[in-house]
Amino acid sequence: MTRAFVIGHPIAHSRSPLIHRYWLEQLQITGQYDPYDIPPEALADFVGRIRTGEFAGGNVTIPLKERVTELCDELTPTAAAIGAVNTLFVLDGQLIGDNTDAYGFLANLDDKAPGWDQNLTSATILGAGGASRALIFALMNRTSAPINLVNRTRERAETLADAFGPSVRPTGQEELPDLLAHTGLLINATSLGMHDERHDQLDLSRLPKSAVVTDIVYVPLQTPLLDDAAKRGLKTVDGLGMLLHQAVPGFEYWFGVRPEVDNSLRQRIEADLFARDKA
Ligand code: NAP
Repeated sequence: MTRAFVIGHPIAHSRSPLIHRYWLEQLQITGQYDPYDIPPEALADFVGRIRTGEFAGGNVTIPLKERVTELCDELTPTAAAIGAVNTLFVLDGQLIGDNTDAYGFLANLDDKAPGWDQNLTSATILGAGGASRALIFALMNRTSAPINLVNRTRERAETLADAFGPSVRPTGQEELPDLLAHTGLLINATSLGMHDERHDQLDLSRLPKSAVVTDIVYVPLQTPLLDDAAKRGLKTVDGLGMLLHQAVPGFEYWFGVRPEVDNSLRQRIEADLFARDKA
């Protein structure tokens, strides 16, 4: 039987088992997908277990995504550019590290806001952490629109922008009001919004009426940012779709069938988010 995993530390919060087990059941595949809590110091031993053939591969989450790159035989060009791996698979005896967050981010926008990339004037990303790298990579592969990178700690935005070249412009929060007037896509990639927080100096009335606002935070599903944007009549896209779509390539690597992100999967994960929120 083909087996796959998600590793992280902690791991109890991960929705990946729910997603992959849904597809295993729906597609009637006899396979297994299990979570393992692996602290950083135990990562090399776990990778050894993959090499013995115990698993076809699996997902990697915080805090192992960067560290695992050094333990792979090869990285896909995407994982190498992002500098982090969220999906592992074995091919011809080689352990390959991929990163599917950029794919998931674009697939979610394509699904929920088709045409978002047509005539895009500029994109503004709030946040310069690990997730931002994947979003910049995704946007640069899809559009030539300039990308503004706004971060509380400006030096972090500068370092990240340097890695991608002149189309990514690092800025401080004080420039936000001016930037928003030319922003066609506004993305929250900070952890703000998980506890009802709002961004300083983010006046959504400055955005063009045609702007799309997306948040990669998905707990809660409707973040204060999305709520405020929807009240202004702006198109909004929540972060759950990114999580669902990033899982697609991994499932195909391990189980050989490309699964679909359908409404019933989304409803199942939404119900879990809601139930855990109430617990
Ligand atoms: P990270 O590396 O820890 O970066 C956190 C970012 O949030 C940094 O830019 C940080 O700014 C900013 N930030 C934190 N608190 C802030 C505050 N009070 N005010 C302003 N900025 C603040 O995290 P990450 O891995 O990039 O993830 C960011 C979020 O994306 C998380 O909530 C994660 O769950 C979510 N995510 C979702 C998906 C998905 O599939 N939907 C995928 C990946 C991540 P400083 O640099 O100034 O500290």
